[in-house]
Amino acid sequence: MSLAKYQAKRKFNKTPEPKGKVKKISQSRFVIQRHQAKNLHYDFRLESAGVLKSWAVPKGVPEKKGIKRLAVQVEDHPVDYINFAGIIPVGEYGAGQVKIWDKGKWQLVSGNLLQGNLKFSLLGKKIKGEFVLVRLKDKKNWLIYKTA
Ligand code: MN
Repeated sequence: MSLAKYQAKRKFNKTPEPKGKVKKISQSRFVIQRHQAKNLHYDFRLESAGVLKSWAVPKGVPEKKGIKRLAVQVEDHPVDYINFAGIIPVGEYGAGQVKIWDKGKWQLVSGNLLQGNLKFSLLGKKIKGEFVLVRLKDKKNWLIYKTA
């Protein structure tokens, strides 16, 4: 795991975002950040292997079954990003407001991210239940949906 892409995109003397580093120990937390950038989206992040595996979900993680949403995988973020909320200044990467929309714990049910198919449960305040993330042919595009 590496944060090279994350760090290369940002100027840490300009953005309040954490520079961060890869952690040795992972908990099993998740966060959904509402990001009012040029285009509003929700950033879904799963703590795994010392980083936050991350997706931009334009319409947000579905709260009900029967809705499939596009989730575009983005660069791994540092674990410290899990608590980040604030304003990314105009002119910087991802400029706009970031708020924490929900957070909690996640748990593996089956599959794995490398194979492009992960079934997992989320225990947040707003989001609860079982979900699937499945990778599409275009490798950065995934679908996320609720199964239970
Ligand atoms: Mn974002």
